[in-house]
Amino acid sequence: MYRTHTCGELRMSHVGQAVTLSGWVQKGRDLGGMTFVDLRDRYGITQLAFNLETNAALAEQARKLGREFVIMVKGTVAERSSKNNKMETGDIEIICSELHILNPADTPPFTIEENTDGGEELRMKYRYLDLRRKPLQQNLMLRHQAALETRKYLSGLGFMEIETPFLIKSTPEGARDFVVPSRVHHGEFYALPQSPQTFKQLLMVSGYDRYFQIVRCFRDEDLRADRQPEFTQIDCEMAFVEREDILQTFEGLLKHVLKEVRGVEIGEVPRMSYDDAMKYYGSDKPDIRFGMKFEEITEIAKGKGFPVFDQAEIVVGICAKGAATYTRKQLDELTEFVKRPQVGAKGLVYARVNEDGSIKSSVDKFYNEDHLKDWARQLNAEPGDLILVMAGETEKTRKQLNELRLELGNQLGLRNKDDFKPLWVLDFPMFEYIEEDGRWFAMHHPFTSPKADDIEAMMNNELGKVKANAYDLVLNGTEVAGGSIRIFNKNLQAKVFEVLGFTKEDAQEKFGFLMNAFEFGAPPHGGIAFGFDRLCALMGGVESIRDFIAFPKNNAGKDVMIDTPSVIDEAQLNELGIIVKNENF
Ligand code: ASP
Repeated sequence: MYRTHTCGELRMSHVGQAVTLSGWVQKGRDLGGMTFVDLRDRYGITQLAFNLETNAALAEQARKLGREFVIMVKGTVAERSSKNNKMETGDIEIICSELHILNPADTPPFTIEENTDGGEELRMKYRYLDLRRKPLQQNLMLRHQAALETRKYLSGLGFMEIETPFLIKSTPEGARDFVVPSRVHHGEFYALPQSPQTFKQLLMVSGYDRYFQIVRCFRDEDLRADRQPEFTQIDCEMAFVEREDILQTFEGLLKHVLKEVRGVEIGEVPRMSYDDAMKYYGSDKPDIRFGMKFEEITEIAKGKGFPVFDQAEIVVGICAKGAATYTRKQLDELTEFVKRPQVGAKGLVYARVNEDGSIKSSVDKFYNEDHLKDWARQLNAEPGDLILVMAGETEKTRKQLNELRLELGNQLGLRNKDDFKPLWVLDFPMFEYIEEDGRWFAMHHPFTSPKADDIEAMMNNELGKVKANAYDLVLNGTEVAGGSIRIFNKNLQAKVFEVLGFTKEDAQEKFGFLMNAFEFGAPPHGGIAFGFDRLCALMGGVESIRDFIAFPKNNAGKDVMIDTPSVIDEAQLNELGIIVKNENF
């Protein structure tokens, strides 16, 4: 009754047909004796025409329509006299004979067009209106397709999608849990899963050797830009596999989804060890869309009387191709960039390789042309290139140079969002020591298996030496997936908990269910989880994952549309047995 077609459907071939359309009024305009209305739904926009001469009453009614009114019209498809080739339906219009207002609308707080005049906060408050805009519709469509293609690919390989519970007991994945109080058991709490990690491992014990789930995860982490307290993973686990099986299978998933959703073909995904990633890119998620690999020049830079380098543990540089044209001002800005507290470097040394091969540096006082040519040789710098060098303590300096490299990549336009360059990063350290806490933490999570060769080192508590059988899939400098081969032996698992500072009782109380399961025939297994929101955002070429979530939280972790988190009334608190010590009460 409401419509025979959508607003994106009618073409020249429909001319002469009687149709019924429903949708939202995008805008109206009066031209001489005609009133035109753009009618919108999620499929497109169709022009409606009302003729004052032939149907004055109807045209009058059309003139009074406000933006975002929901209307239904009946009419005949006609060829337009002035066609609009920017619109898919631009060849036709509907000569209307009936108009029904299904629901009037208040004037929207911002324009509902491709480019809106609405500020971030306002659009979040009226998210349901923002979602009417085309860019967001396209994002949600991309997300839908990515989910669909994921299900197709994995189902095709025999994976089963199995749901796991949301009301669980805490699973440590490095973040805090969101907790849910139990009404029936006062003083007791469920935790929302940070991921289905333990459940998917139990499913392997149960024999469901290929599991996946597109699943919501919850992490109560400190707020950072573009982080969502709830987010979605493509969570996967396989039994009777080695690392190679996992890498092949999920490289295949990325390839399939990129091809089907974006039409992009990627070749074999290169691999790099964590140690190399840190050495050559100063990051465990290198953006390999561009070069500028780190070159250490410690040996040749030391001993020439420049105290900063002489005292440094490492002197390391990058070569920016064609950037010798950088002006003094631009170089000063780069120096300022690395000195910002977020980067924290003390300074930056540069050397320009001029077109005639001569080299000018910011440390000419200490280094003559021959010395600088040695640098250039080591860094593969040619005439026209710019060399940038940093020095200091190894790990810190590498991280700082990573920031500079990425900034230069941006400035030089080397980080094209339509260029997709995935990378496997392998062999992560098993543990990391966190100074503030004074203890070791699992770098991935406690269920990750150490590399077979390093089990002995772990047993001897040489924790810094132990590598994990863990891997990350990095896309354009962003981690899109991470996983590991798991421990499936109770004693080894108990040892890891011990190393992480759990007492025997603690480990038993928290993870007894898993360790016991390992005693009932646990197969070797491993898995991975993709950050689904992030993957969609990358495929859509957009920075923010929020644009790919229908109803996201803002940067303060709030949903300003429904206004949450919010206080709950005392009766509800009493029922839950919760006493709130807060000035609001
Ligand atoms: N559960 C892990 C995570 O959320 C992924 C995995 O190891 O499969 O990062």
